[in-house]
Amino acid sequence: STSKTIALISGGNAGIGLAVATQLAKDHGYHVIIGSRNESAGKDVAATLVSDGFSASAVQLDVTSDTSIEIAVRKISEEFGVLDVLINNAGILIDTLEGNEKPKTRELFNQTYNTNVTGAACLTEACLPLLRKASVPRVIFVSSRMGSVSEATNKETLYYNIDYKAYDASKAAVNMLAINYARILEDVGAMVNAVCPGLVQTKLTKFHPYGTSVELGAVRIVQLATAEKGGPTATFSDKDGVVPW
Ligand code: NDP
Repeated sequence: STSKTIALISGGNAGIGLAVATQLAKDHGYHVIIGSRNESAGKDVAATLVSDGFSASAVQLDVTSDTSIEIAVRKISEEFGVLDVLINNAGILIDTLEGNEKPKTRELFNQTYNTNVTGAACLTEACLPLLRKASVPRVIFVSSRMGSVSEATNKETLYYNIDYKAYDASKAAVNMLAINYARILEDVGAMVNAVCPGLVQTKLTKFHPYGTSVELGAVRIVQLATAEKGGPTATFSDKDGVVPW
């Protein structure tokens, strides 16, 4: 048990999730729980943070598995009895797979939604009792501008011509999750928001040459994960401000 603010980051072992966990631990003194579907990858990351003098632990967490979610949340409940911050960061982009790897349409949508939408919803649902015990509960859904209906219908934007089908639809659904859980947790004064990290160099974007660093990608997520009571809820933003739904 600890008096520190407790934050769980799904997919915290790599990319933007790891940068968020690192900033919350180093710059804000949080205890970060690295959720990682690969248990040893999560433990390695937590061990590095601990050896650098920060507070961190790891839980095996595959958001597509109810059993994994259940065991992870039970562990957090037993060890901390509370969850102050949940970062729904785990996500996949498989529209870009080519050749033999390219899934058929139904498989493409099922897999994408299973991780990005259903996974985030099931993890959030399982965390509700622990979040309700926090003095300032905060939930962040890591979304994408690609899930913005306004951007997708505006010919002036960069995103108009990118045709991902499943990924962008899943992030539009993630935005709706943020709105719904903001309402569901309104009675406890929770802040529940959707965030776009911007285009970031990670495995997911095949380290896109125009992408920013993971540290910059983490900025807005960390701001909302550390927001004071009464701060924004049911919003969609990036580090430069409001993103239209
Ligand atoms: P990475 O591929 O680097 O990281 C994704 C993380 O999610 C990894 O830790 C991965 O685990 C984990 N993950 C994938 N599937 C599951 C699962 N079923 N259960 C648990 N964890 C899982 O990508 P990013 O850091 O870029 O992505 C993080 C989030 O940011 C995603 O939601 C993405 O959609 C979003 N985003 C990213 C943008 C970018 O430009 N990079 C832009 C907009 C949004 P493992 O290491 O085992 O694969």
